[in-house]
Parts: sequence; structure tokens; C-alpha cells
Amino acid sequence: MLAGIEAGGTKFVCGVGSGPDDLKTTQFPTSAPEVTLGNVIGFFKHEGRGNLEAIGVGSFGPVDLDRSSSTYGYITSTPKPGWSNFDLAGAMREGLGVPVALDTDVNGAVLGEARWGAAQGLSDAVYLTIGTGIGGGAIVHGQVVHGMVHPEIGHLRIPHDLSRDPFPGICPYHQDCLEGLACGPAMQARWGSPAGVLEPDHPAWALEAHYLALGLVNLTLSLSTKRILLGGGVMQQPQLFPLIRKEFARLLNGYVQHRSVLDDLDEYIQPPKLGGQAGILGALVLAESALA
Ligand code: ADP
Ligand code: ZN
Repeated sequence: MLAGIEAGGTKFVCGVGSGPDDLKTTQFPTSAPEVTLGNVIGFFKHEGRGNLEAIGVGSFGPVDLDRSSSTYGYITSTPKPGWSNFDLAGAMREGLGVPVALDTDVNGAVLGEARWGAAQGLSDAVYLTIGTGIGGGAIVHGQVVHGMVHPEIGHLRIPHDLSRDPFPGICPYHQDCLEGLACGPAMQARWGSPAGVLEPDHPAWALEAHYLALGLVNLTLSLSTKRILLGGGVMQQPQLFPLIRKEFARLLNGYVQHRSVLDDLDEYIQPPKLGGQAGILGALVLAESALA
């Protein structure tokens, strides 16, 4: 039996099982680490009944994923009280006595989608969430990308035409990076109301599609990825997908000669299939990797 955690800034989703068919989940609010992890470990001890083999954690970050680092498995810097420099992987290992694999929440989500969802069987795929922030996880040659730290796709720098969009952006580090211009709170700050209440024909959506397509084109050009999945609160707007695909094609302008980006954009850019469960299912895939 495998255990998984999708560790978020507001809640920890915990699950046991081996996949979508037998997954059993519960969730706890993210409060002080001792309290939250007390709840989490209690749940796994009860549900695991001594049969837990490994645990996978897809976590909010930034997290230290460098196995040679003395702070491997730590949440490094976060404004969340108590969680900065917290040894999340160590706490789980100690609490449950099983191997732990930790990764970013979005790397978890892309792993889940590649196993059971909209990127099934693909060696290369990207998962982006457009929500309170923008985050992305990537699989390249069948492996999630870590590199130096881990990708921070949300903070890609993209062209910002101030005559079209004078809004300065809200990223505390870069101001008008992709997240600073296109996350949910940026839309709310620019237009004065939450993204969810803007009419489908509001000009906000064409601008949003423009920024997201700029980010996607950069991912296609740099990773030659085979599919891009777009999830998160802002992507609950169905009119965004056709706008993004059209803008993506316009920006790429036929340069990449492959049917995926010439004829099959409906497949190439699509929503995740596992809905809210991509992260927790991906955590089970991570748990499997901890066993290996
Ligand atoms: P989080 O990123 O915190 O995990 P979400 O993915 O739900 O959470 O993203 C929250 C953001 O998505 C908020 O900025 C909110 O305004 C926006 N959002 C939520 N629902 C919708 C919707 N139906 N349409 C557009 N934007 C939405
Ligand atoms: Zn930024």
C-alpha cells in the first residue's frame, strides 16, 4: 500500500491506495507544521494498518530536491509561519518509518497525468496551473525535471507591451513575469473584479490568452514538449482554451513543423483529466519511485 500527500499552502490532501481505483483521501488544513503533520501521520497510521510501503509528497515550495544537499527534502523559504527551513521529508520518514520521495506539487501533478490522465504514455509533457500563482512541472524523457533546483515556469519573463496593457504586474520579485501578469490575483488587480466574474467576452480573456500563449510557446521551443496541460482556477473558463490555441499558433507562426502543433492543437493544449486528483495521484507515483 502506498501513501501520498499533496502539500499545499492551505491544505494537505492525504491519500492511500495504488491508483485512481482504490484511492482513499482525506484532508487537513495547513496550520503549524507540528499540528498538520500530527494529523497527517495519524491518518496514515490508521489507514495503513502497518502495511504502508512508501510515501510520496508533492509539496508547495520552493523545496530542496538536491539529494546531495544537507537540506534535501526541506521546504526552503516560504512566508508560511513555521514552514521555512522545515524538514518535510524527514518528518514523514521519522513519523512513518517508510521511504519518502518528495517533489514539487506541479511535478507531482504532471506525473499523475502522465500515468493516468491527459498525458498518459507520453515521455514529455508539461503541467501548468494558473491559479493564485502560476506553477509548472515538466517531464522530459520520462523523468521529472529537477536540474539545479526545480523549474519555476510561472516566473518566465515574457514581453509586456505597456501600450496594450499598462498594468505593472504583481510578482514581488519580477513584477511583470508570467505569474505577475497572468495569475488569478493579477487579473483581479488589473480588472477590479475576480477573474471568475468577468464575462466570457471581456477583453481580459484575449489578453490572458496572449500571456499564457507566450509562456507556452517558450516551453514548446525550449523543451520540445509533446503536450501541455492547463489547470487551476483561472482555466475553469472554457473560452480560454480556444483563445490560447489560436494565439499559440499565431506566435509560433508555423516554425515548428510537427502535426501536434500544426493540426492537433486541441490535443496539444488541453485540460488535465484527473481534475483535482492529479496532485494526490502523482504523489502515489512518487511513492512508487521511493520504493525503487
Ligand atoms: P490555488 O492556486 O490557490 O491552488 P486555484 O487554482 O483555485 O487555487 O486558483 C485560485 C485563483 O483562480 C483565484 O485567483 C481565483 O480568482 C481564480 N478562479 C477561481 N475560479 C475561477 C473561475 N471559475 N474562473 C476564473 N478564475 C477563477
Ligand atoms: Zn515572478
